[in-house]
Amino acid sequence: MAAQIVVNIENQPGSMARVVAALRRFGLSPSRHRIQSAGNGLSRLVLIADGPFSPGELIEKLGDVKGVRQVVSVAPANGATGATPILARPTPLKDPEEDLVKSIVANYPRILHIIEKYEATLSSDRDRATRLKRLGQKVGARMLQNDESLFNSGSIHEALQTAVVPALIPISDAEAMGSEIRTSISIFTRRRVNTIRQIFGNTANRCDFMSGLIQGMINLSPSLPKVNVEEHACRTNGDDCCVFRVMA
Ligand SMILES: [Zn+2]
Repeated sequence: MAAQIVVNIENQPGSMARVVAALRRFGLSPSRHRIQSAGNGLSRLVLIADGPFSPGELIEKLGDVKGVRQVVSVAPANGATGATPILARPTPLKDPEEDLVKSIVANYPRILHIIEKYEATLSSDRDRATRLKRLGQKVGARMLQNDESLFNSGSIHEALQTAVVPALIPISDAEAMGSEIRTSISIFTRRRVNTIRQIFGNTANRCDFMSGLIQGMINLSPSLPKVNVEEHACRTNGDDCCVFRVMA
């Protein structure tokens, strides 16, 4: 049976090859394709493939392929019955950072190289701080999404102590004090880049990813107030420790 598969993929080398490889793994043989611009750095890829056709699984598998941002439709390609698309409504557009977040969570705590690679793509210092914090939030939310001690916490301090600190220990010597997290060392403060930046009088790299991580974790809890986390002191600025203040 032939199927028509329509996906929106990122305009990056390898995106289409990964879709084709995923279809092959699924037992389908792509025979024809058409590709057109879908705007916003995306291309719409229409593929005709032969083989066993189980739309539900196919949609799920394709959604997990790196570079696929959206599965638009999956349908029988040439049914005499006037083929109606199986998935008429497209799946939600994936967060462009979804694959990055997944990879950080999967590699935790060996994540510094991944974050540094991402940092290298950020242009200005302001952009760097905002985007790193946002990335940290997404990772934190993903890491503790099933954490019972977080959901059972009755206060911010309890959540910090029972859920956040244990999650941060593999990358720092985190301690909870009131509604603050303090670290005197972390994978972000030992970096050579910090020393170099300080010698040349630039703003040092602060621990924006860590602030985001803590904020993303706490904000998962349905019972605690929504918080913002700011770093008030930082080792890379010469302070004794990094102080992350959780503010409701
Ligand atoms: Zn710091």
